[in-house]
Amino acid sequence: MGLHGKRAIVTGSTSGIGRGIAQALAAEGASVMLNGFGEADEIERLRTELASFGGTIAYSAADMTRADEIAEMVEQAGRSLGGVDILVNNAGIQFTAPIGEFPREQWDRVLAINLSAAFHAMQAATPRLREAGWGRIINIASAHGLVASAQKAAYVAAKHGLVGLTKVAAIELANSGVTCNAICPGWVLTPLVERQIAERAAREGRAAGDAERALLAEKQPMLQFTRPEQIGAMAVFLCSEAAATITGAALSIDGGWTAG
Ligand code: NAD
Repeated sequence: MGLHGKRAIVTGSTSGIGRGIAQALAAEGASVMLNGFGEADEIERLRTELASFGGTIAYSAADMTRADEIAEMVEQAGRSLGGVDILVNNAGIQFTAPIGEFPREQWDRVLAINLSAAFHAMQAATPRLREAGWGRIINIASAHGLVASAQKAAYVAAKHGLVGLTKVAAIELANSGVTCNAICPGWVLTPLVERQIAERAAREGRAAGDAERALLAEKQPMLQFTRPEQIGAMAVFLCSEAAATITGAALSIDGGWTAG
């Protein structure tokens, strides 16, 4: 229970990687503000499950496209958890198309959720993190924060931007007790990737299993998915004393994707 007494916000934690991170932080005793879309019953089940670890678990329905709702989510965390020590900017979406055909509204939406939301949350939460003289900001970027792929203009631009934003915050916060790092996962089998596998299977007329293997083989030397709980464990490590001087880093957990 290394994070007993710490208060965390994890955006996009009703699914996939965010959910894995929220679970890992709660299991270490942290109080957690959940966020993201989903069925009310399902979210309440998750909230109750995580509360069994002992921390306070709250939920904010803030839409990450809205700066005002993001600021209110941080306020709500202050009220219901008693403060904010850890901010995990995880909410993200994908949209694929060649640049020439990329719908402008999808460009705006991907940039808003995957990049601007992190800026708005950091702006709102940083004074609280500084207050305690200890804090952790963890931005969930991607292998696409370090290298590109075709058809992913908005996502790659947003994730490279998020890595840059991480570095600026790390420098600004260097002597405040607050670190800021990016985690850059390769393929993780979540609904975001399941949609890409289904699209590929339909496009190429393959079975889902074949499309899954092709998706991995195209980018990742290691032909296996990273699991959300492994990203959660990395977040817990970044919150530990051992990681006190790791800041401004873009940490890959990508099966060798960016090694080549
Ligand atoms: P996911 O689709 O399983 O979960 C996304 C979460 O974000 C959900 O909780 C969803 O409700 C929330 N969300 C989406 N739009 C939102 C909005 N406007 N406001 C509030 N919440 C919103 O996806 P995931 O794969 O778990 O992705 C999580 C993060 O990890 C994303 O930033 C993604 O880019 C990144 N990532 C994923 C992979 C992967 O292979 N799955 C790899 C690298 C990086």
